[in-house]
Amino acid sequence: MNPEDMFASVGESTEDTEFFTSLPPGYKPGQTKFVIVVGTVMSGLGKGIFSSSLARILQDKGLSVAPIKLEGYLNRDSGTLNPYRHGEVFVLDDGMECDMDLGTYERMLNQDLTRLNFSTSGQIFSRVLEKERKGEYLGRDVQMIPHVTGEVKYHLRQLAVETGTDVVFVEIGGTAGDVENAYYLEAVRELAFEEGPNSCCFVALTYVVEPPSLGEQKSKPAQLNIKQLMAVGIMPHIIACRASRPVTRKVLEKLAMYSNVPIDRVFSMHDVETVYMIPEALREDGIDETVLETLDLKAKTDPKVEAESRANWSDYLSKYRAASTPVTIGITGKYTSLRDSYASIIQALEHAGTHHGIKVDIVWIDSTELSDQNVAQRLSGVDGVIIPGGFGVRGVDGKIACVKYAREHGLPYLGLCYGFQIAVIEFARNVCGLKGAGSTEIDPNAPHPVIDILPEQRALASMGGNMRLGGQDIDVAKGLMVSQMYGGVDSVRLRFRHRYEVAPDYIERLEAAGLVFCGRSPDQRIMQILELSAAEHPYFVATQAHAELTSRPLRPDPMFLGLVEAARDFSGGGKANQTKSAKVTAD
Ligand code: GLN
Repeated sequence: MNPEDMFASVGESTEDTEFFTSLPPGYKPGQTKFVIVVGTVMSGLGKGIFSSSLARILQDKGLSVAPIKLEGYLNRDSGTLNPYRHGEVFVLDDGMECDMDLGTYERMLNQDLTRLNFSTSGQIFSRVLEKERKGEYLGRDVQMIPHVTGEVKYHLRQLAVETGTDVVFVEIGGTAGDVENAYYLEAVRELAFEEGPNSCCFVALTYVVEPPSLGEQKSKPAQLNIKQLMAVGIMPHIIACRASRPVTRKVLEKLAMYSNVPIDRVFSMHDVETVYMIPEALREDGIDETVLETLDLKAKTDPKVEAESRANWSDYLSKYRAASTPVTIGITGKYTSLRDSYASIIQALEHAGTHHGIKVDIVWIDSTELSDQNVAQRLSGVDGVIIPGGFGVRGVDGKIACVKYAREHGLPYLGLCYGFQIAVIEFARNVCGLKGAGSTEIDPNAPHPVIDILPEQRALASMGGNMRLGGQDIDVAKGLMVSQMYGGVDSVRLRFRHRYEVAPDYIERLEAAGLVFCGRSPDQRIMQILELSAAEHPYFVATQAHAELTSRPLRPDPMFLGLVEAARDFSGGGKANQTKSAKVTAD
């Protein structure tokens, strides 16, 4: 049955039919294909990295792709999630706060995503309940099937319509067998049924264990969990096996045998040095051709486009392999025990280092253990330092000690969001001599509240949704360092996630003492980027934005490029002449 006939038989939802398939306006069945990636055995297999790499190799062939992550949790977005438990909160240009995987997709596909590319159970259920109140379910009892699953299918098809894309990549959060994502699995099963043959390609990402006591790879957990997927009516077209070492032929055969998947569709995916090597590895294994065959998409591909994008990508990888100058960057934060909390910063450093032929080594400095007394010793091995975004009081004193040290000793510094505010506080205290200068986030009664809540945020009381979020244009002062680093432009667009800003009353005093606010909101009201002049410091730059979120392998963020370059110079000599800058403590 072709897709049109299928939908003709489904028809509009009426009081009598058991089918419930409302289609978004403009949706043409059969026009968009779907690749659906489901995790088995356990979480943490890098499903986002895998899906985005797969999407990348189809994009390379000239196909347009739109990824979507379906999260099982009930939160409406990731804004209230603790980065220590869930990894960083990634912010999209339209202000959506989402899972860090969206960052992986944006970097891998070099594409800006929107809130349509991210969905949570909270969003799905909220919409279902809204529709119920409006009487859109024709007096029926509202059920997981067909109404909630119908909402999921609606969202996937809406993404297809609004992006006009060739292939939608659906990543289902969690693992087969979870209660949370069971209805997502049911929804995509229904989707494949309704869309018809060659419309959906199911990929089971699994894990092959190798217990040290056995020293041998075992396939049983993978087999059993793939069976669980089959029990809910999903037959994978492809199995991709994660493992620390290449998966043996014996294990691949067993998996093929037990899951009805031909052996040439069972792939080994072992660990690689940088995630950007994965697309090429998948291509070498022929997984791209297998997907194209399953979705009958071969005719739509363009070998010329593919040759060019592969060349650009492999250029990045050659530079990555060749990068040899060692540079150490310290990251002073609160969540340093969980690397995922700073995933985009790690990536941005890799992009910048690769561009300059520098191998960046990261050391994690726990801000809660830093003080004026131990800061020199703790920073002794680093060539540059970053203070990343953060919230609350814990670790603030350590961060201030860190900025003070960096500013006074010519140690290259990049402040991101909280790191920008901390730099302003430190400068106000130690250069402007404003005793007790602080942020009202840290101390509501600070004698000099140089960082204060944004007026528009004051009115918003609830925990979720009260931040200034998303992409904003920044006017940059021409002729200064930051503008030059961005190529002499007078405007850049970066992403934000904050509640506080530099208090307008203090701007003049800070600038008079030498702090240069070289980036401001177009209405000039909000300070967005600061720098110290080259005469004061070799590299002291901070931004209220999260510059790390928009750094891409082939388009590294200039502020990170500047930091890494300055750190290289510092390690190659600057370190030796660590003279105190002219602007030392005022008191
Ligand atoms: N806590 C600061 C604010 O809310 C900084 C936020 C951040 O670093 N993301 O303004």
